[in-house]
Amino acid sequence: MNIYVAKNSGFCFGVKRALKKAYELAGQEKNIIYTYGPLIHNKQVISKLEDLDVISVDSIEEAKGSTLIIRSHGIPLNIYEDADKNNIEILDATCPFVRRVQETAKEYYDKGYQIVIIGNPEHPEVIGINGWCNNKAYIVENIDQVNDMPFINKMCVVAQTTITFEKWNNIIKELNNKSDDIREFNTICVATKSRQEASAEIAKKVEAMVVIGGYHSSNTQKLYKICKSYCDNSIHIETADELLLDMFEGINDIGITAGASTPDWIINDVIKKIENKGGD
Ligand code: SF4
Repeated sequence: MNIYVAKNSGFCFGVKRALKKAYELAGQEKNIIYTYGPLIHNKQVISKLEDLDVISVDSIEEAKGSTLIIRSHGIPLNIYEDADKNNIEILDATCPFVRRVQETAKEYYDKGYQIVIIGNPEHPEVIGINGWCNNKAYIVENIDQVNDMPFINKMCVVAQTTITFEKWNNIIKELNNKSDDIREFNTICVATKSRQEASAEIAKKVEAMVVIGGYHSSNTQKLYKICKSYCDNSIHIETADELLLDMFEGINDIGITAGASTPDWIINDVIKKIENKGGD
């Protein structure tokens, strides 16, 4: 049995950076530290952070007078002001790639452009970006939604950093029919692109594909979709415990990939479990 692990599997730069900041602060601080929403979409890591008194809150008021870590997804601009009013010290771990999208949205909104975000309206990163253009963006994730949009004189388009290139290409083509003055910023992050490409390459050549990552992790769900399109025998799991080795009966080539919020130790657990079954 051969096991192929996709390059760039696991933590991306933005997630590593946010976790490093959280662990460093937890080591220095005696009081409870808060994070605005779960720091990453991974239950196992969140539970380790809770052991260190790093606790997730959903509203600013809950962190009154304390330190609040902003996760890599970022936050709407007004939350910084709310934090200030509540005497909260911010440790900003917004990923620099996300910050670039937020600043682009703000710059072009201020110049009078209608901002369009290609992405999931419920994803915190998209909610955050929208909050940098006065919550006035059109948020689209399919062609039907583009068709429902009016003609826009000045349009600026950005992307949620984790969407697929396929989605960007399909939607941007249609958006070009909706404006004569369109500024396009393909803000899909390089880490996402490399991970998707590497996973697709592996999925094309194996008989079974294991995608590891939180069930709520948007980039893991997309990885699973990509892998499934090339390898029908693809599964999405959060930890090695969910792996049923029966599915590998009679299979020689197995691929593994993992989303941006999956720690190495979970990936290694999965590899070990398959190896013990006879992998190399
Ligand atoms: S996926 Fe990309 S943009 Fe998002 S946190 Fe990771 S490095 Fe940053």
